[in-house]
Amino acid sequence: MYTVPVVLQVIIMKHKLYAEKVNMSIKTLKGIGPKKALLLEKIGIYSIWDLLYTFPRGYEDRTRMCPVSTLTDGLVCCVNVIVASSVIEKKIKPKMSLYIFHAQDSTGELSVKWFSSPFNRTKIKRGMKLTLYGTVSVNKSGIEFLLKDYEQYGENNKFGRVMPVYSSTAGLSQNDLKTAVKQAFEIVGDIPESLPEDIVASNDILPLEKALYYMHFPDNYESLSRAKYRFSFEELLILCMIIKKTRQITNQNTSVRVNEYKCILDFANSLPFELTDGQKKAVNDICKDFKKSVPMNRLLQGDVGSGKTVVAACASYAVFKSGYQTAVMAPTEILAAQHYETFVGFFKNTDIRIGLLTSSTANKTLVYKQIQNGELDIVIGTHALIQDKVNFKNLGLCITDEQHRFGVKQRALLAKSNNNPHILVMSATPIPRTLSLVVYGDLDISVIDVLPTGRQKIETYAVNNSLRQRINGFIKNIVESGSQCFVVCPLIDTSEKLDVLSGAEAYENLKQYFPEYRICFLHGKMSNEEKDEIMEAFRKKEYDILVSTTVIEVGIDIPNATLIIVENAERFGLSQLHQLRGRVGRGTKKSYCVLVTDSQSQEAKERMDIMCKTTDGFKVAAYDLQMRGCGEFFGTRQHGLPELKVANLFTDMQIFEKARDVAEKIEKTSPKDRSSYDELHRRIERLISDIDNMKIFN
Ligand code: ADP
Ligand code: MG
Repeated sequence: MYTVPVVLQVIIMKHKLYAEKVNMSIKTLKGIGPKKALLLEKIGIYSIWDLLYTFPRGYEDRTRMCPVSTLTDGLVCCVNVIVASSVIEKKIKPKMSLYIFHAQDSTGELSVKWFSSPFNRTKIKRGMKLTLYGTVSVNKSGIEFLLKDYEQYGENNKFGRVMPVYSSTAGLSQNDLKTAVKQAFEIVGDIPESLPEDIVASNDILPLEKALYYMHFPDNYESLSRAKYRFSFEELLILCMIIKKTRQITNQNTSVRVNEYKCILDFANSLPFELTDGQKKAVNDICKDFKKSVPMNRLLQGDVGSGKTVVAACASYAVFKSGYQTAVMAPTEILAAQHYETFVGFFKNTDIRIGLLTSSTANKTLVYKQIQNGELDIVIGTHALIQDKVNFKNLGLCITDEQHRFGVKQRALLAKSNNNPHILVMSATPIPRTLSLVVYGDLDISVIDVLPTGRQKIETYAVNNSLRQRINGFIKNIVESGSQCFVVCPLIDTSEKLDVLSGAEAYENLKQYFPEYRICFLHGKMSNEEKDEIMEAFRKKEYDILVSTTVIEVGIDIPNATLIIVENAERFGLSQLHQLRGRVGRGTKKSYCVLVTDSQSQEAKERMDIMCKTTDGFKVAAYDLQMRGCGEFFGTRQHGLPELKVANLFTDMQIFEKARDVAEKIEKTSPKDRSSYDELHRRIERLISDIDNMKIFN
């Protein structure tokens, strides 16, 4: 679906003609018929605007020519050669050929090859002078050159420059994309600046028009890096301004006074276990915050299974005793329901009134009333808690669990209260200081760095499907010993395109193999009531094996489950695998995780390797960051912030600091001098209202 981008919604007023042009459909371009248009739409390009703002995923350096004698193994480069033979075709498979020709320059010779179809062999003739681009491999028989592109020497169409490489899809060539983008620039003509002129001038950044062009067609690496700098700066400036605006709500002065925190000791003594040192320290930190005159803004970080929930319960007990309400927000219905049960259990000997509010709550009107009248002390729920109808009488503490799914959304919850409630966010994902600064502003962090005593290391194995018998044997042992087992699959139903074991299939297979076992199947398409029912039944040990999709990924706590099998494990990211693994090993029984994959890819192998080697969530996360980069790992999208297309929160820290200074300056400008920033302010306001209206769940 095509939506008009926010920046455009804002500049539309001033630059009507430009707005009309960039909003034009790609179908108006020459060479883009209905077929190509569909392919472009498939990769998210609907309008001229999308073409301009879909940046290449990488660039090829076609400026540097290397003499043959300087070529080394693995080098990706250009060479100028003379063709020294005709092109020979060798059939390797019925539908696959290898093409080879020999070539040389004054310093040496090499053989050039390609597979199948990209080039027409008849066009290359002995004696021709060509410029080649490709990958060098050096072996016993000499230098081989895997050809990626070529042209006649001196043509200088595709060489002598930095070439963009776009993410594409089958049927859509790099050339299709390049020509479309070129046309887009021609149609649009002048591109108005999207940042205030004085900011462009005083920060030595490229104007939008130039920067956009260089992102696609840079003269050289210097102009490319200046273009990237401009977009990083703009994205980070917008980010900083949004953070500043939204932070204003949380950083208001006086807090709710929570004076009754000594009661936590009694509560802790009523628990069936002793708090770990990490948990005690976290509770101490929270109590210290309660004594201050500004609201707490604390992140509670602890690996899966470290026991964050009970810390949250301690805090809410003190808040209750001090006369205030607590809201606990969880990312999924299943998790909210589980927290509800856990809290009810923790507080069964007190007079705390606990409520559950999710979209499937039967009598919502009643719960709304109870929240408003203060008849509930702790309300646990999903995003249903931030709906308009919810008004707390006396909110003192706002807890969000596994917050990386919420982020900025949380402030909507705070706005539900006339007080300035304390904030506690809980997460199993370690967030580097720099990033937490961006996402949460200045918040304090408590880390639970020990697991409860008696926990044993979760044994992890990576296996392939040829070991299916043994996997089943493993399940048998676990079930016979009275424990339970999770089987997680990436998809619900069988897909024709993907060779993946679906949940439905796995469920049927297991039922056939283990007719005597009680097996259930849980997936995201079920109604919430159905999901709750199955989870409850599994918790009560009415089932031995729970087959599910990733709906059980986060937070589920069933200590009697000691084996988790992840099918097609290659389809999950590292952090996700770690979260899944965290569903077991939550009691004192020895637990196991079996990752099933037939994937031969290097990346998948590496991931499985890391999972088998380490059970430390922080280490797993560090690897994940390394392998995926922070964009995906901390998808700002997940935080409800605008997407960063160019900026990188790790490497662009300096640009970030500059952007923060500029944001500060803009904020401080007196209203009468601010007219040049009007457009920017409007853009920020729109983005914030987008965030507030954003739906994470349907
Ligand atoms: P997470 O940090 O992943 O949210 P939970 O709060 O769900 O972890 O706790 C995991 C399990 O550990 C729960 O079953 C909980 O009752 C148990 N638990 C928590 N703290 C302790 C402790 N100090 N000693 C023993 N078990 C504990
Ligand atoms: Mg949890």
